Amino acid sequence: MAKIIINQDRCKGCFLCVNFCPKGLIKKSVKLNKQGLNFAEFSRRGNLNKGGIPPKAGDLTDCIGCMQCVVICPDCCIEVDK
Ligand code: SF4
Ligand code: SF4
Repeated sequence: MAKIIINQDRCKGCFLCVNFCPKGLIKKSVKLNKQGLNFAEFSRRGNLNKGGIPPKAGDLTDCIGCMQCVVICPDCCIEVDK
């Protein structure tokens, strides 16, 4: 099971990664970073971003280490930890 590490203070909140993760594992934070922006954060609870509907227990998904979030981030804020 992989996970990602997001440099939250460097994140500019474009949320491309949120839209590109095929598992819906990245979401917009409610907190602000040092730049005063909502940042992207990793959530093991998949599909939270799909229409804002919380997942049921059987819907939980894991990071597959596909690197799509890493590749799409314009500011190189994401690393995958496999
Ligand atoms: S793609 Fe990068 S800069 Fe944009 S929200 Fe995700 S981590 Fe932040
Ligand atoms: S590596 Fe793939 S599955 Fe894991 S958080 Fe990034 S886009 Fe989602």
